[in-house]
Amino acid sequence: MAKVAKAPQDLNAFLISILEQGLVEGVMALKFLKEPSKVSYALIPRGGETEGMAPLFPFMPANAGKALSRLTMEKPTSKPLAVVLRPCELRAFVELVKLDQAHRENLYIIGVECGGVYPLTKMTKEKGDLVLDSYFRALKKGEIPPDLRPVCQGCDLFQPIGADVVVSLLGRDKPQLAFLTEEGLALAKGVGLDLSDGDVFTFASQELLKSRLEKRTQLTETIKTEVKGIGGLLEVFGKCIGCHCCSHVCPICYCKDCFFESATFDYEPLSYSVRMDKKKALRVPMDTILFHLGRMTHMATSCVACGMCEDACPAGIPVSQVFKAVGRDLQELFGYVPGRSIQEELPLTIYRTVEFSEVEE
Ligand code: SF4
Ligand code: SF4
Ligand code: SF4
Repeated sequence: MAKVAKAPQDLNAFLISILEQGLVEGVMALKFLKEPSKVSYALIPRGGETEGMAPLFPFMPANAGKALSRLTMEKPTSKPLAVVLRPCELRAFVELVKLDQAHRENLYIIGVECGGVYPLTKMTKEKGDLVLDSYFRALKKGEIPPDLRPVCQGCDLFQPIGADVVVSLLGRDKPQLAFLTEEGLALAKGVGLDLSDGDVFTFASQELLKSRLEKRTQLTETIKTEVKGIGGLLEVFGKCIGCHCCSHVCPICYCKDCFFESATFDYEPLSYSVRMDKKKALRVPMDTILFHLGRMTHMATSCVACGMCEDACPAGIPVSQVFKAVGRDLQELFGYVPGRSIQEELPLTIYRTVEFSEVEE
């Protein structure tokens, strides 16, 4: 049981109230651009332009956990901010806190129960209101809305972990707010909300979880069949143009100087001719598979399966589906769920004298 608002709340109205009451000095949420079907994240100060805020709009133009890390990288934000995050964005943010790339203090985290998001290409082609209508009808029934990004169709971690306020959407006509921490309760009190004890999520969430788990199994099996062995890797990543967009948008690829963009990979002409002589055909740009394998070994334990890499890929490669499948297998070996808790240590930072001894045998 949690403290929930007695009446369903309009999330925009709640965000505007906490700004107007001075409980926070700013809000970070999705906001419509001039063209109404397109959104971006915006930081809106007290007294700023709240019109067009669209925190529940089903698109992810950036992983907001990564954006928030940029804001709090060196120290906590000096002004209290409310931020609206989807579960994979919140989990990415938690990983970044543990990686010393973000600070949690002074933030009121409003986590959205997530029905999933559409590929970014859909945002540029279709009218937002048409998309929204069918999207929210499906969520009310606890179903997977059609045409979502594959990684969202099979996402089983769609309920926010560690948020101060949770917005429950599934199975409801209107969003319901639940206040889970002292900070969250202070916001509810500050705007005079009537609260009562109640469940955060509805039966529709459980129904959605069942269909998402089925979908996840199906997608994982397909991707593991496609990307089997080095031949499968070459087939799937053979289309890669080496633009590195996937790592630039990834919240977990946090290195300020990426090894794969260092001078090590600025080959001299001689390197090409030496390699050409050894092979029947030399693929250029070189080392695209090495880039993906390197990236994977660097960050697979913390991949939150947010799908940003796949959305950004101009070559249509199922990047996040591959990273999610590999990441989940690896994370299960360590019993680790990225972003589950700030206190849980990153698997590769712990030294155990006895671990994976079967590999040594
Ligand atoms: S991956 Fe999960 S949490 Fe993230 S946007 Fe998709 S459904 Fe939501
Ligand atoms: S690898 Fe892709 S799916 Fe995983 S955290 Fe990075 S952007 Fe998200
Ligand atoms: S975004 Fe796509 S094409 Fe670009 S490096 Fe990543 S996988 Fe290759």
